[in-house]
Amino acid sequence: MRNIKYIVVHCTATAQTASVESVKRYWKEKLNWKSPGYHYLVEPDGNIVQLLDEDKPSNGVAGYNSVSMNVCYTGGIDRNGKAVDNRTEEQKASLVFLLERLKEKYPRATIKGHRDFSPDLNGNGVIEPSEWIKSCPCFDAEKEYKNL
Ligand SMILES: [Zn+2]
Repeated sequence: MRNIKYIVVHCTATAQTASVESVKRYWKEKLNWKSPGYHYLVEPDGNIVQLLDEDKPSNGVAGYNSVSMNVCYTGGIDRNGKAVDNRTEEQKASLVFLLERLKEKYPRATIKGHRDFSPDLNGNGVIEPSEWIKSCPCFDAEKEYKNL
């Protein structure tokens, strides 16, 4: 069993209509990844797809994958490719369900958004929007899930 320190929330940064297969194909063919980016993917209808065994590391956050469980929802950008929190109600409910289950299994893990792993460039102890490497998952996951 891996020592899970973080449960990291992501968005696919694709249209909400992107299929699980197209996301997997992108990792394999465009990025040449041997492992999926996330352990779980939540589709717009709330369906949860497991892409990888929890005991194997996925490609979610460079440098943290061995100690992370990566969870993702399909979406996160608008028609112009701009970051937006467009989670459906079904996705929100499934994310809470999934995160609660993972938190039960890995009680010492902290839930964070991908962007919370950006470097604190000005060293004030807060990862500010101007410091985000990317906006993924396009909402404040730390804050929204702090009571899980
Ligand atoms: Zn991400």
